[in-house]
Order: sequence, then structure tokens, then C-alpha cells
Amino acid sequence: MFWGLLHVTTISNIDLHCHTTASDGAYSPEQVVARAYSRGLNVLAITDHDVVGGVAAAQAEAQRLNALLLSGAPEAPVESYIKPSAQVQGVEHGTLERSAAERLLTVVPGIEISTTWRDEQIHVVGLFIDITNDKLQTLLTQQKVLREERARAIGEKLDRLGFSNSYERCKDKAQEGAAITRGNYARFIFEEGKAESSDAAFNQYLKRGQPAYVKTEWIAIPEAVAAITAAGGVAVLAHPRRYKISNGRLRRLCKEFKECGGRGFEVASSQQKQLDFEYLVQLCVEFDFLASLGSDFHTDNIYRDLGQNLALPDALAPVWRCPEAQQFGLAPELQQRRVILTYAKGNDAL
Ligand code: AMP
Ligand code: MN
Ligand code: MN
Ligand code: MN
Repeated sequence: MFWGLLHVTTISNIDLHCHTTASDGAYSPEQVVARAYSRGLNVLAITDHDVVGGVAAAQAEAQRLNALLLSGAPEAPVESYIKPSAQVQGVEHGTLERSAAERLLTVVPGIEISTTWRDEQIHVVGLFIDITNDKLQTLLTQQKVLREERARAIGEKLDRLGFSNSYERCKDKAQEGAAITRGNYARFIFEEGKAESSDAAFNQYLKRGQPAYVKTEWIAIPEAVAAITAAGGVAVLAHPRRYKISNGRLRRLCKEFKECGGRGFEVASSQQKQLDFEYLVQLCVEFDFLASLGSDFHTDNIYRDLGQNLALPDALAPVWRCPEAQQFGLAPELQQRRVILTYAKGNDAL
């Protein structure tokens, strides 16, 4: 077989960015945790938009499933991400077969805070946070008011465009107290059969310039960073290549983020081009950031799943090696285990 006809992907055992039904993820915290075991993860951060409502349930589920693994119970989680049509090319920093003790999962409490920077929506991920911290809670209450107002306004616009009870129906699908984002509405529009995909729904209705777009002024980056830091966490600039800004502005953003106490940089995202990844590696070194990685998993998507395509160069300083991470039980010697898989193009092997 020609190499050119093969897809190559890696599955990482560490993933520090994903969503649950506490915001716009399609799966409950328990389901996301179950998926993490089935995909061979050892560390998963739950980072919902402006809410921490999924963290406790995810941690409890991991505790329950870790106990099942250690006791060798028949209902203990199994790994099932390597489909028969895929081939394992190698494993970096680890072995393919692992004992139960090597398959335990740590859930890291996290958040993804929406901010506005020069008229652009910038996302700041907080990792290793104390979710009960007062300063963080105050900021989240503030964001919740903004989100609710906006979600209702979007719902009203959609209702005027021919949908019915859009807001209430999105609320019903998400968990109690959930943050309703445009991601929830995109899926709703798709499920109503009014767009070919969530992506198309987003582009036709929800993005700037489209009929159900509602502008919001989120908090400023330094406020988000300060709240994350006050909660004992590390602030990470999320998916820096996804913003529609020039390289010059991105550098400016990095500089300002660093100056206000931002320490981490999300170098690897599941759905990211190699050139973008390489540019982010360069910026990470230049600004002396701690390297982070995250799938940004929301729902079933063959290009964006837990642990997928998140290989970090070993030369970068990883965010999980900071003292804050150790408080959550991550050993300083923890390495990113990477399972390298190939599968034939056109073959839905992953
Ligand atoms: P919001 O924070 O309410 O502005 O919503 C942003 C969310 O919308 C993101 O976190 C994504 O989950 C989702 N989103 C962004 N772009 C798209 C897209 N092109 N297709 C579908 N969902 C998207
Ligand atoms: Mn984001
Ligand atoms: Mn989202
Ligand atoms: Mn996200």
C-alpha cells in the first residue's frame, strides 16, 4: 500500500479541553468520561463554556470507574478506539497493552471563559482550578447573566425566523444550569432539519452578519486570567489559530495575554492544519508559554475526538508539569503517550 493513501493519526493519553451537556457538548459528563476510558486517556480536563457544572459529576464517575478497573470487575471500562481496519504503527512513551493501574483516569477541573479582545471573541481555558473559589464564582455569575440574555435574544430571533420555542428546547436538552451557546443552537437548527450540519447552521444563522446573530460584550482577558489565577489555576490561550486575526495581531494577543498573567498556550487542537500547529509551536517557544493540548470535543466527529491528533513536541514545557497540576495528582514524570495509527483513506476506521 502506498503511504500516500493512508491517513496517519495519533491518540494522546492527555486531553485538556472538552465539553459536556453543562455547556454545548452533546454528552453528559458521565458519558464523556466513559468515552475517555474507551479512548485510552489518563488525563482529561472538563472545560465547559463559562460553567463548571460538569466537573463534579465527571470526577465522581472517574473515581467509580477507576475503582472498577483496580478491582478487576467485569464491568470495568475497556479500550475500543482502534478499529479492526486501523493499524498501530507505534507507541511513543508507553506500550500498547497496559495494566489496569496504567489505565486510570484523572479528571482535571477546568473552564473555558469567553472574553472580548478588540472586538474579537477570545477563549481562555483555565486548568487545575478550585471550582468553588469565590472570585471565580463571582465572575461566572456575571457571565451567566450575559449568556442568558444573549441566549434568549438568539432564541427570539430564531422563533421569528420560523422555529418554535428555540430557547426552551435548547435548555431542555442541556443539563440543569447549563450555559447555552451558539453551539447548542447550531445543533438545534441542524436537528430541526433546517441546515445540512451544525456547521452549516452556524454559518447560515448564527455567525456575525447572519439573521440570528446577537453581539455580546464578554469580559476582558485580564479579568478571566485573574479569576483563574485566584482559583489556583493556570490560564491557557485556547485554540490560538482559530481566531480570524492576522499573525501580527496574534502576536499582540500573546504579548498581552502573557503580560496579564496568562501562562499556557494551546499548541495542539484535534482539527488543526500542520502549518498552523508548527506556527503555534514557534510562538509557544518565543513567548515562553507552557504547552497545552485539547481536542475541543463536543460531539461525534471523525476529525475531532478525545485525544485525537494532539501530539506535542517533547521539547516544549508541558502545562501538566507545573506545580498546580501536581496538586491534582499528576506526577511530574507524566509523559504524553502517543499511539500512532494508520488507516486507509475513505475507510471510516476511527
Ligand atoms: P458562543 O460562545 O455562544 O459564541 O458559541 C461559540 C460556540 O459555537 C463554540 O464553542 C462552538 O461550540 C460553536 N461553534 C463555533 N463555530 C462553529 C461552527 N462553524 N459550526 C458549529 N458550531 C460552531
Ligand atoms: Mn473555544
Ligand atoms: Mn462550544
Ligand atoms: Mn471549547
